[in-house]
Amino acid sequence: MADQSLQESFPEAWQEFRTCRILHWISWLAFISVSGFCIVSGVAFNLPFGWWPDGIFIMGCGVLVAITYAKLRYMRCPRCHKDFFFLLHFYPIFLREGCWNCGLPIYGDDDAQT
Ligand SMILES: [Zn+2]
Repeated sequence: MADQSLQESFPEAWQEFRTCRILHWISWLAFISVSGFCIVSGVAFNLPFGWWPDGIFIMGCGVLVAITYAKLRYMRCPRCHKDFFFLLHFYPIFLREGCWNCGLPIYGDDDAQT
């Protein structure tokens, strides 16, 4: 029980977590780059901000950020079946080592594999 981890003991949940995390980063990158592009092109070509296409693209990227965030936020721990990332907005994923409730580590112990 003590040497369990999300990465090694629950490969399906691990895969889902990795996919969500990557999609979340991609959606943030898309949101920032699309917003930046719309603002810069608007300023460079002296265009007024329009709902089409600027507003729709920015809103679409924002929705993608929200969806991927919600998927991570409401991810269930495969061991205790409670919120894995409880209070995610106060305590981001890169500061966490495991499940909020049961302490299931995200990453496996590399030393144990060798
Ligand atoms: Zn748990």
